[in-house]
Amino acid sequence: MAEPTDRPASREWIDFTVQTLGPCTVESPLAPRLQARRTTHHSIDESDRVLFDDTLSKVSRREGDLEDLPSLEPTGPRKKIFFDPSKTRVGIVTCGGLCPGINNVIRGLVSELTTHYGVRRIYGFKNGYQGFIPRYGHDVIDLTPEVVENIDGEGGTILGTSRGQQDFVEVVDCLERMGISILFVIGGDGTMRGAEKISAEIKRRDLKIAVVGIPKTIDNDIPFIDQSFGFQSAFSEASRSIRSAKVEARTAPNGVSVVKLMGRHSGFIACYAALAQNDADFVLIPEVPFTLEGPGGFLERLREKVATQGHALVVAAEGAGQELFEDNGLQDASGNKKLQDVGILLRQLIAEDFAAHDLELNMRYIDPSYVIRSVPANPYDAVYCIRLAHAAVHAAMAGRTNMVVGRWRRRFVHIPISLAVSARNQVDPHGDLWWSVLEATGQPWSFGEFTGEQVTAFGGQ
Ligand code: ATP
Ligand code: MG
Repeated sequence: MAEPTDRPASREWIDFTVQTLGPCTVESPLAPRLQARRTTHHSIDESDRVLFDDTLSKVSRREGDLEDLPSLEPTGPRKKIFFDPSKTRVGIVTCGGLCPGINNVIRGLVSELTTHYGVRRIYGFKNGYQGFIPRYGHDVIDLTPEVVENIDGEGGTILGTSRGQQDFVEVVDCLERMGISILFVIGGDGTMRGAEKISAEIKRRDLKIAVVGIPKTIDNDIPFIDQSFGFQSAFSEASRSIRSAKVEARTAPNGVSVVKLMGRHSGFIACYAALAQNDADFVLIPEVPFTLEGPGGFLERLREKVATQGHALVVAAEGAGQELFEDNGLQDASGNKKLQDVGILLRQLIAEDFAAHDLELNMRYIDPSYVIRSVPANPYDAVYCIRLAHAAVHAAMAGRTNMVVGRWRRRFVHIPISLAVSARNQVDPHGDLWWSVLEATGQPWSFGEFTGEQVTAFGGQ
């Protein structure tokens, strides 16, 4: 499991205040169950908070009283809620890239809303934020428990997804037109930035519409969240590719397998998959720059490994080694920088290097990214997804808005969207996860000219 990042703790003050639409005056349909037996206490003590810091040294660095310690609002059912469920219309949208577990979240939202709160109208907007914009002409789907009954066995999203900027004024026009009171947004950092803009437009119009996000990032790069849903399924699947790659490398003279895994800016999948299937000799991640050529460079180390072991296995995150390329200035439809392909570069340069040293080489290049993104959630992620979905429904029904749900220090919490998009969770090159990878692979801390001092510590694990 990804350890929480230490990075935000060094900030002096973090505002974890979550916006609300107003006082909660409606008795929750769950209230009788919450009070049914004296022995059950499933409702939330709303005066309690989840502490942000988890070590004595971090707490002791803080100034002020106990109440001043940075803390987050816990999720869970409230006895009083903001919306009257019988009059509440809900929208759900999924945007960005695929990730295991999206359908589980959709199903969890629909079943919690209908079965426990008695919400009768839930609309699925198709193909990301395009679904709100009239000119695309996408239909909406009525999401009922029957419609979502078996969707969690499938990867992907039944609602479809898209990239590309949309006009959020038009999105809110659509919400108003359709009388939507709650919008659940499932997506990555870009999607959450969009959700923040939707919330701002809603506020500007003084509307009572809650916007609650369930953050999706297969790379596990969202800050203030222990682990993102789908991450565990993703690295489990990735570890299978490592296993196959090992077999391929071992069974040919001077076999070298290169496996490229997801991880645009954060190498968590590469690290975890390599640890799960402890066969990699080298792991390359975006957080640790490296040199290819020259003494101590990656190519020399690889040759040494093949000479002593007879074969070698390299796992590279897709965002690794970007410092080796000239900036091409390319962007995708959503404006994200297009990464250059480290896998192709490695394949080419390894082949050239072995040829230059007159060495035999049997290379296999494996890129399982699209296979991994579309697998169904594993049981652990399935549990996580449904719990996030429940937390999101409780938050929205209680009028919380402009927030995402997540788990921090193993507790489910509300996090303002602004914080969830404020930074990126990354592997700390000086932390214990990277240390475990170094121990498991036996590779040096970095290759070539880079030293520990030259790499910025991001504080994530
Ligand atoms: P992933 O990174 O996993 O692919 P993502 O949510 O970051 O997911 P994007 O394609 O970047 O994927 O964004 C999805 C949608 O969010 C876009 O179609 C766009 O409408 C909106 N969006 C992206 N970036 C922004 C931004 N900076 N501000 C407002 N909206 C944005
Ligand atoms: Mg993104």
